[in-house]
Amino acid sequence: MMEVKPRARLIDYDEKAEEKVATAARLCYSRQGAEELQEQMSREEKEELVRKILDLGHYSTLEHAYFAFHIVCSRVTSHQLVRQRVGVSYSQRSQRYVQEDGFSYIIPPSIKRAGGQVLKEFKEHYQQSQELYDRLLAEDVPPEDARFLLPAIKTNLVVTYNARSLYHFFSLRCCSRAQWEIRGLARQMLKQVREVTAVLFDKAGTDCEVKGECPEGELSCGRLEKIKSDEEED
Ligand SMILES: Cc1cc2nc3c(=O)[nH]c(=O)nc-3n(C[C@H](O)[C@H](O)[C@H](O)COP(=O)(O)OP(=O)(O)OC[C@H]3O[C@@H](n4cnc5c(N)ncnc54)[C@H](O)[C@@H]3O)c2cc1C
Repeated sequence: MMEVKPRARLIDYDEKAEEKVATAARLCYSRQGAEELQEQMSREEKEELVRKILDLGHYSTLEHAYFAFHIVCSRVTSHQLVRQRVGVSYSQRSQRYVQEDGFSYIIPPSIKRAGGQVLKEFKEHYQQSQELYDRLLAEDVPPEDARFLLPAIKTNLVVTYNARSLYHFFSLRCCSRAQWEIRGLARQMLKQVREVTAVLFDKAGTDCEVKGECPEGELSCGRLEKIKSDEEED
């Protein structure tokens, strides 16, 4: 049993992401085929075209580029991740076929801050769950039934998004109103895709940062007002 930190690692991506997006966009308004356009456009022209697409909102062209992540998180958060249905593929470690030997778990920051007896009992809860799980397996209960007692232990997923669905994910989950664990993952993912593409994710992020609007209404964190007042001061 051990504590782990939630993490997301970019494990595979479309190295030609921007070229593919630019080619698809140019093809819509050209008599030429994709191969010719790919050869004709310089790198700078392709990047310029990607910037234009992002400004115009011609987002269907972003669907040609993929980005795959290995995600380690709690089962609480994997449940939230898989709610996104469009343009994304998931593979998650099975609790039917893989025995959970050595529960790893994530401790929420609020429980760490509470510390003391509460934190101690939180860890004991995982220890006791592990022991009961092992006893059930020893009584020939199959893993698919023993898992009914499992708390929100660590899980592993491979998740592949196209660039458009990643934009949607970042707008929902980088927001400070999103739950802390999925928000942390989203911000790690945004940082990594920005490192491997020059301009494709320039306009990705929360609606307050990117569109200058907030969909949260009365529940807004107030960041939009701060962004606006900072802009006025500049
Ligand atoms: C801060 C926050 C709090 C949340 N709280 C809750 C909660 O309390 N309870 C809860 O159940 N969920 C909650 N969710 C999850 C949320 O409702 C969505 O299920 C999740 O964010 C995935 O978003 P999506 O449906 O837009 O994405 P996708 O499933 O990827 O869909 C993308 C877009 O495609 C379109 N689309 C997809 N499917 C359909 C369809 N069947 N019909 C019409 N259009 C469609 C929509 O435009 C949609 O935005 C929360 C999400 C956030 C970010």
